[in-house]
Amino acid sequence: MKKIPSIDCRHFINGKYVDSNDKRTFENINPATEEVLGTVAEGGKTEVDYAVAAAKRALAGPWKNTTLVERSKMLRNIGDLILERQEELVHLESYDTGKPFWLANSIDIPRAAYNFHFFADYITSVGQEAYQQNQQALHYTHRKPVGVVGLIKPWNLPLLLLTWKLAPCIGMGNAAVVKPAEWTPMTATVLMEIIKDAGVPDGIVNLVHGFGPNSAGGAIAEHPDVDAISFIGEPRTGSSIMKAGADTIKKLSFELGGKNPNIIFADSDLDEVVETTIKSSFINQGEVCLCGSRIYVERNAFESFVKKFVERTKQLKVGNPFDETTNVGALISKEHYDRVNSYLDIAREDGANILTGGKRPEGMDTGYYLEPTIITGLDRNSRCVREEIFGPVVTITPFDMEEEVIMQANDTHYGLSATIWTNDLRRAHRVAHQIDAGIIWVNTWFLRDLRTPFGGMKHSGSGRAGGMHSIDFYSELSNITIKL
Ligand code: NAD
Repeated sequence: MKKIPSIDCRHFINGKYVDSNDKRTFENINPATEEVLGTVAEGGKTEVDYAVAAAKRALAGPWKNTTLVERSKMLRNIGDLILERQEELVHLESYDTGKPFWLANSIDIPRAAYNFHFFADYITSVGQEAYQQNQQALHYTHRKPVGVVGLIKPWNLPLLLLTWKLAPCIGMGNAAVVKPAEWTPMTATVLMEIIKDAGVPDGIVNLVHGFGPNSAGGAIAEHPDVDAISFIGEPRTGSSIMKAGADTIKKLSFELGGKNPNIIFADSDLDEVVETTIKSSFINQGEVCLCGSRIYVERNAFESFVKKFVERTKQLKVGNPFDETTNVGALISKEHYDRVNSYLDIAREDGANILTGGKRPEGMDTGYYLEPTIITGLDRNSRCVREEIFGPVVTITPFDMEEEVIMQANDTHYGLSATIWTNDLRRAHRVAHQIDAGIIWVNTWFLRDLRTPFGGMKHSGSGRAGGMHSIDFYSELSNITIKL
């Protein structure tokens, strides 16, 4: 693997890269080689206090008089600069996460730029509500920023998910304190320089590195001057952020985990289903909240689907993220690798058939690599069928009746996404209307339009992002009534 110079990540507060007050750092590990990539400043309450104070000061400065058009221009500049520095960002994202280079180059970084370009256009097209009440009064709405927003983010799509929230956040006139995941600090650190170069005033976007509870994440969640929190991560973390922010009634947006059903009816085009299911199961090492990790196949297509799917999965190449022919890279960390493997132990104890995978690829002794794994024969109560594994592991279960598969699909605390494969139009609508999930795809997967609502129900989140839903979260509405 190509050697990169050591990259040290520092906080970014009030327009400057700074160390922690006590100079404390932690190591950033490359999951593909287990080598140290560099050190990361370890922030906590002190650094979060500095960052929130800088954000508050900046909000009260000239920023409050910027127009939507001026902020739209800044968002466009940021998107352009991300594209100018694409190669560097792709390298950093791939080193940090272990994901294939081609994936970061074709999805993560272009989409990060597009998040800014999309909201640069969108924020200038937002209208307001107005109602005339007979001859009595005129009512209209006025939008204001929410204030200081804490953005606490996960490691699986680091720059893509941070920018998905940061673009509408600053576009609507807020200030931000960003906390990237401790395992993936690099692209967020470079983004701060880009944001400064794009003309965003100092203090409007700040970044504090660190961990979760009793560290930077917890300090943001508790901070009395943080008005809103946009969190992406695990439901348990969401719950503790909710508790920490309860005393100061913070506005919350949560995008949480998923255990998404992929429902395959026998009348669908199996070859197309297999190709898309390879992606929806194993892309990004299965570390995507939208992955369809519970596959249900109508019984009369079960055998032929399983045969084709297993054959195709065996062709996937696990390996060096910088090799163009690699399909599946390394899992994010030792801790996560052990967690995913512990689910494979549970599957074995529960009597599963592991049709392929379930082990480290031969000859790859270093790095957190796991073969794509297909499991059958598990009861619906097995923890592998119920809990989010967040790795390259899927279960396949046969079904006989439409009602039965709908019941099984909904038999979970999660409600993020679902995929339905059928060529029967009426059935597609009928089933889609009965699945409890925020995002439902029919005969496709991961097809996104950023104007549409994105988010989950039940333990998969609260609120929606995308288009007007993002505008609503990152602004407060006043209704103004004028007596006529
Ligand atoms: P995580 O909840 O462990 O951590 C996410 C972030 O929260 C990290 O920055 C972490 O440092 C911070 N954190 C942890 N504990 C905290 C606390 N008590 N207070 C404040 N901050 C805290 O999640 P993860 O392991 O980084 O990410 C994987 C999870 O994210 C999966 O469940 C996945 O499904 C979910 N996810 C959801 C979406 C979505 O759009 N719904 C997208 C990506 C990932």
